[in-house]
Amino acid sequence: MTHAIRIHETGGPEKMVWEHIPLPAPKPGEALVRHKAVGLNFIDVYFRTGLYKAPSLPAIIGMEGAGIVEAVGEGVTEVAPGDRVAYATGPIGAYAEARSIKADRLVKMPDGIGFEQAAGMMLQGMTAAFLIRKCYPVQAGQTVLVHAAAGGVGLIMCQWLKHLGCTVIGVVSTEEKAALAKAHGAAHVLLTRDDVPARVKDITGGAMLPVVFDSVGRDTFNTSLDCLAPFGMMVSYGNASGPVAIPDLGILAAKGSLYVTRPTLATYTAKREDLIARANDLFDVVGSGAVKIRVNQTFALKDAADAHRALEARQTTGSTILVP
Ligand code: NDP
Repeated sequence: MTHAIRIHETGGPEKMVWEHIPLPAPKPGEALVRHKAVGLNFIDVYFRTGLYKAPSLPAIIGMEGAGIVEAVGEGVTEVAPGDRVAYATGPIGAYAEARSIKADRLVKMPDGIGFEQAAGMMLQGMTAAFLIRKCYPVQAGQTVLVHAAAGGVGLIMCQWLKHLGCTVIGVVSTEEKAALAKAHGAAHVLLTRDDVPARVKDITGGAMLPVVFDSVGRDTFNTSLDCLAPFGMMVSYGNASGPVAIPDLGILAAKGSLYVTRPTLATYTAKREDLIARANDLFDVVGSGAVKIRVNQTFALKDAADAHRALEARQTTGSTILVP
């Protein structure tokens, strides 16, 4: 048996219940991981509300965890009992003291990385890695815009983009968050209430931007397009304010032959070799000190509902973890 947070129906944070449930032995190809820490991510909110569909109910939500392999099923070669491992690409089921998961989704943790740090960085950090290295490989000297720049993905993006030689324009909702984003590498920070395209025009001397990384979605989609230079790339990778309906594609023509992509970490790490490559990209920049992981909030796993309330109320900065 194990304790887990389950939802029996979708809805608000109150739908998350702490329950005692069976913990079956790992099946062939699976490893049983006893969590030391679990990561909180905005995608957990989407599964809880039903914006993203759980395969069945009741469901244990959560995509990310770090812990120790306790047992492995038949045929597992990637990990062995006693290994320190982390994962971030699901399937859902992380809000539990222990779980089984396909062993080929696990990454062995380097010695210098702690469990809480891993749970605070694997999903958000591999997201930053695939966005800026594969989806839109940034180049030194480029000026780029990052929404929610003081959030989990945001603070990692600010540091990593600066490390790669980019000038980061961050967008955040409060002065406190602006100071945090600046302290983590953003050269300019705008507030959501600003006229963001006009400010970008000033900062770039009218040139506008080659790329915008937009995780806010519905509220910012159109203004993000207005920040792009001709042929610019809109990377719409999240829906914190609600999903974006596919617009009339003519808008991309009118605003300068723009590109739009809606990428996911799942697609970019579907092959194990890509999962390992992105994890290693992250371990490198964290190991060198170029990117520091800010675990700014810690909750007990059984209090996950409070963590969701804080995340949705935009009260968190950096990463948040849940401790079993
Ligand atoms: P964050 O820590 O960034 O939290 C979300 C932030 O979004 C808030 O702090 C807030 O920052 C901003 N925000 C803007 N509008 C709203 C709103 N209406 N309600 C709540 N927050 C809002 O979360 P994560 O780092 O976990 O995730 C960041 C984004 O990246 C999410 O949209 C997530 O879905 C996406 N993502 C996508 C992945 C992919 O594969 N495509 C993978 C991982 C994450 P502020 O107050 O400054 O506006």
